[in-house]
Amino acid sequence: MKKTNGHEVIQLFEQFSPKRYAMEGDKIGLQVGRLNKPVERVLIALDVLEEVVDEAIDKDVQLIIAHHPLIFRPLKSVVTSDPAGRLLEKLIKHDIAVYAAHTNLDVAKGGVNDLLAEALELTETEVLVPTLQEDLKKLAVFVPSDHAGSVREALGRAGAGFIGEYSHCSFSVEGTGRFLPGAQTSPYIGEAGRLETVEEVKIETIYPRSLEKKVLSAMLKAHPYEEVAYDIYPLDNEGETLGLGRIGQLEKSMTLHEFAEFVKEKLDVKGVRVVGHLTEEVKKVAVLGGDGNKYFQSAKFKGADVYVTGDFYYHTAHDALAAGLKVVDPGHNVEKVMKAGTANKMAALAAEKGLDVQFIPSSIHTDPFTFI
Ligand SMILES: [Zn+2]
Repeated sequence: MKKTNGHEVIQLFEQFSPKRYAMEGDKIGLQVGRLNKPVERVLIALDVLEEVVDEAIDKDVQLIIAHHPLIFRPLKSVVTSDPAGRLLEKLIKHDIAVYAAHTNLDVAKGGVNDLLAEALELTETEVLVPTLQEDLKKLAVFVPSDHAGSVREALGRAGAGFIGEYSHCSFSVEGTGRFLPGAQTSPYIGEAGRLETVEEVKIETIYPRSLEKKVLSAMLKAHPYEEVAYDIYPLDNEGETLGLGRIGQLEKSMTLHEFAEFVKEKLDVKGVRVVGHLTEEVKKVAVLGGDGNKYFQSAKFKGADVYVTGDFYYHTAHDALAAGLKVVDPGHNVEKVMKAGTANKMAALAAEKGLDVQFIPSSIHTDPFTFI
């Protein structure tokens, strides 16, 4: 196992939740502290409250990855006798960094909305509100014939060559490579100063831009040459659609009343607010973590029977009712699914790279509301 640092941990995190997935104006990224330091333990939190900072100190973590930005509006002062200032003081005194991943983690595959859809056991899940399309790129790499198989395999394992439900897609042609190794080289084939001719294979494949670093490093690792010849092309082909919220099907239909009970159980809340007739059936479910008022029309338009979201307003509820859309509001705090979900995802990514770092879901309950 390899020791790691803050930069490496965040690089790993941004592999699945890159900053460019965030909505415009969102406050994401490193907010407090520094990343150029050893990191052994990372706390995954929904909110950075003082109790969470105390937990971070207690568990001796060097970095907190939080869903809700700690600093959203510009700070006018940092007065350490006030709660907000005291919290920042504690973080800085203990050299604990805070990194926020907000709407980018909502959009990310395996992020907050996928975790909510999974918790509600939805199938045939799609994006509810598209916000961006993944750019696709093409890679063409020239490999000596005896290494073509292992380079293809490495590319496939890194996630290149996904077309719909097909993985490891590539195309190869055989040809002749020629090169003249310089005086200071130690070539895999041939010798310095002599023009060489080699049977090579040109392998072509595609990948989403977000995977570029991973794909190129896997390819370079599997390739035997000192200097690898490869080309990268931008493509106009449309990549996968990403966005906020998810829409999918329940395994079997149930009444709105039964569904409300189901949501309480699956999202671990004591109560929910319900809009619509309790005896009517629901099967198609839209879910959007956090405040989903703005997007209820998307849920209606995409044919959802019921929309699960937080912070629903009185007047939006009237509008939804008039539009014939049922709503179940379990509160904003159900986004807490991101704690265990993100910790598991990060642990798997770190294990793949052999990094010695632990991801701890925060055990502090941060819902300001209590159902009584
Ligand atoms: Zn939120």
